[in-house]
Amino acid sequence: MKFKSWKDLPEGAIVRDVPTSPEFKTGDWKSRTPKYIPEKCTHDLLCWLYCPDSAIHVKDGKIEKFDLDYCKGCGICASICPQDAIEMVEEEV
Ligand code: SF4
Repeated sequence: MKFKSWKDLPEGAIVRDVPTSPEFKTGDWKSRTPKYIPEKCTHDLLCWLYCPDSAIHVKDGKIEKFDLDYCKGCGICASICPQDAIEMVEEEV
């Protein structure tokens, strides 16, 4: 069997017509949803900083909402929060 070089591989995972990210609602993927616990939150905004999908909206320096159309349920926000103000909850099927 002859191995191919990477140059022989077909093109893939190419993002065309940038910016298209608003069209792809990554929230469709998720199996877990962040549950925000406002009474524990100190608004250090680490979750907002680390969210890979910009799904956490901030207004006047405070968390306003989680945009579940784009939250893909990765749990980074819950992992990074030092106050445990976010819990990941399994979605019901
Ligand atoms: S679960 Fe992931 S995508 Fe959703 S708000 Fe938290 S960090 Fe962002």
